[in-house]
Amino acid sequence: MTTNRYAETAPDVESIRADFPILRTQVNDSPLVYLDNAATTQKPRPVIEALTRYYETYNANIHRGLHTLSEQATAEYESARDRTAAFINAAQSHEVIFTKGTTDAINLVARAWGDSNVTSGDEIILTEIEHHSNLVPWQMLAHRRGEQLRFIPTDPEGHVDLVEFEKMLGKRTRIVAITHMSNVLGVITPVAELIRIAHANGIPVLVDAAQSVPHMRVDVQELDADFVAFSGHKMLGPTGIGILYGKESILNAMDPFIGGGSMIRVVELHESSWAGLPERFEGGTPNIAGAIGLGAAVDYINQIGINNITAHEMSLTDYALQQLHDLDSVRIFGPPDTANRGGVISFAVGEIHPHDIGTLLDTDGIAVRAGHHCAQPLMRKLEVPATVRASIYLYNTTDEIAQLVASISRAKEFFDGA
Ligand code: PLP
Repeated sequence: MTTNRYAETAPDVESIRADFPILRTQVNDSPLVYLDNAATTQKPRPVIEALTRYYETYNANIHRGLHTLSEQATAEYESARDRTAAFINAAQSHEVIFTKGTTDAINLVARAWGDSNVTSGDEIILTEIEHHSNLVPWQMLAHRRGEQLRFIPTDPEGHVDLVEFEKMLGKRTRIVAITHMSNVLGVITPVAELIRIAHANGIPVLVDAAQSVPHMRVDVQELDADFVAFSGHKMLGPTGIGILYGKESILNAMDPFIGGGSMIRVVELHESSWAGLPERFEGGTPNIAGAIGLGAAVDYINQIGINNITAHEMSLTDYALQQLHDLDSVRIFGPPDTANRGGVISFAVGEIHPHDIGTLLDTDGIAVRAGHHCAQPLMRKLEVPATVRASIYLYNTTDEIAQLVASISRAKEFFDGA
């Protein structure tokens, strides 16, 4: 048996696990092995407590009230923004807009930026490995505005062809929107290089960072990204909260997408003027608890250190790839080793339907995802209906990976004998 070369050093996974109450759950009489982190992550006690504290001690609407609770809620909400902005190294907090999640953030850009910057005959550049969230909003924009979608060629492991990319850029290219890490293949796209090339041609870039920000250092200034979208629930935070980062100059030039309370400066009967950033894009009562919970999640990640989290995940990913590779009949999608990839591992086991594998793993208490992972065009490109996907986070252990591998072997034997 191949050994895990990295072993478990930093961070201290056992003490991290103790912070996650759900990890003590039994599923089908086995301890839960949670490997569905690309779908959503579990929540540590400090995040759960931040939510409870808000609801139990200072629940109030923000920005409007003059009373003590409202002021406290406003301060906590804005502090969460500041800490999230610092986490991605945004130059200014008001470049961080709270949204419902990545999907909501990309739709905001496709509406608020797209409707006034894209016209018939223009082009938007994507890849074939995008999550539906970074495809469908651009298709909807195409139906409204008549632009063309073009796709950067990718090899079977999901690596984008930078030479072809550069050739695709032209006078009609309006924006490039690309995933930072594929939620199916785990491949990391060279966004810094893509952004450099796009900017040399005067074209802005949106980065779908739903799978990268939770797992690796993302510095929006270093990348020079124009927009970056990610979700709180994939980084230990609550559901229903996410981030759209946008450069101040671009956000300031955009009209709002959602009209209503909080996003205005002056309202007349027939016209209104808009608030500044970030309120302009946060119409209505926002997800106050969610933002506060996200702030606590950011603190938790910072306390462990994002680079330590990456190192731990890469160690487990390396081990998992080796172990899966050693199993006959397992086909791994995406890069075969840890160069250029994260801890999202999609695979197929012989001809067994991924749903059947997922169901059998569940009988051993192992939670993975089986399906098209909201990437139907990619499934077609891979010529499979679905894949099984195991995805790793900071609380997973080598032993859990070994259990996954053993359970896959048993599933295979079960179907071979059937
Ligand atoms: N983009 C990628 C790469 C994802 O993996 C996901 C979720 O799985 C999304 C976008 C959408 O995120 P959400 O459902 O939180 O809006």
